[in-house]
Amino acid sequence: MKTKSINFSKFSSIMIGDTLEVVLLDDCETLPNDYYLIGSCNNILIGTQPPPLLKLSKKYDYIKIEDNTLKIGAATPSGKIASFCKKHNIADFEFVSHLPGILGGLVFMNAGLKEYEIFNNLVSISTCSGELLKENIDFGYRFTDINSPILEATFELTCGFNKDKVEIFKKMRSTQPSTPSAGSCFKNPQGDYAGRLIEKVGLKGVLKGNMSFSQEHANFLVNHGNGTFDEAIGLIQEAQKRVYEKFKIWLECEIVVLDIRYMGKNSPLLKPSF
Ligand SMILES: Cc1cc2nc3c(=O)[nH]c(=O)nc-3n(C[C@H](O)[C@H](O)[C@H](O)COP(=O)(O)OP(=O)(O)OC[C@H]3O[C@@H](n4cnc5c(N)ncnc54)[C@H](O)[C@@H]3O)c2cc1C
Repeated sequence: MKTKSINFSKFSSIMIGDTLEVVLLDDCETLPNDYYLIGSCNNILIGTQPPPLLKLSKKYDYIKIEDNTLKIGAATPSGKIASFCKKHNIADFEFVSHLPGILGGLVFMNAGLKEYEIFNNLVSISTCSGELLKENIDFGYRFTDINSPILEATFELTCGFNKDKVEIFKKMRSTQPSTPSAGSCFKNPQGDYAGRLIEKVGLKGVLKGNMSFSQEHANFLVNHGNGTFDEAIGLIQEAQKRVYEKFKIWLECEIVVLDIRYMGKNSPLLKPSF
């Protein structure tokens, strides 16, 4: 098995994690059991007890027009997708220019901005368990039930790249902190905002070591430099506890925590355990 040494304090957007050996997936025949697949770690918090990790090889970094559809390899970065669509005058992918990640991560998370989501134009995906049509995938707000490595996705092709939309998305982005983070920490509960609830329980801007929920946007857990996993997970659990005690709402993590103590159906992040 090919491996790559990755320093997660540099590779992950939240800049937390040790240097770890990550297995590179070149083809599904050699897919090892019990490994966790990462994308480009823009939504992941790596712990001090991570599971064995897997990453798609460069073989899956491509984008092409075929049979009047857009076919994108799952290791293709969002910036490359946005540039390709601009160059070929393709509509509906303008929002990915401000969404960090690779295609596999974007599809698995059903990433998006407001009503623009990566599933909007999706036709099908190819995974290690075979081809899946969109209508056979359960998906919603930052959620899909995909349970096999995504290798490629096929999208409807519509003409007309819209430069104005790029500007609108850029503006939306400008309200988010530029300090290292993993994007939104929690999913917004139905009819409310996680950031509002975090602010209401007095955690906005409060430092725990070098980590805090951002002053600019309370649902962004930010690293002010040398922040640690223990500080980050401490804040996540404190926010869940305080919000639950005050509002009886359990904040569900959007951030993916990769540490065996916080994964699986017994994770203390899933429901109140105090
Ligand atoms: C500053 C900032 C702003 C952000 N703003 C937004 C936003 O507005 N909207 C939004 O939706 N997100 C936002 N995010 C989060 C992030 O951009 C998305 O979640 C993105 O989809 C993560 O992609 P990734 O490749 O980094 O995936 P990772 O973070 O590496 O992984 C995320 C999940 O995807 C799974 N995954 C990755 N690749 C594959 C694959 N090939 N097959 C199956 N599963 C896979 C992983 O197992 C993991 O569970 C933001 C992040 C940052 C840092």
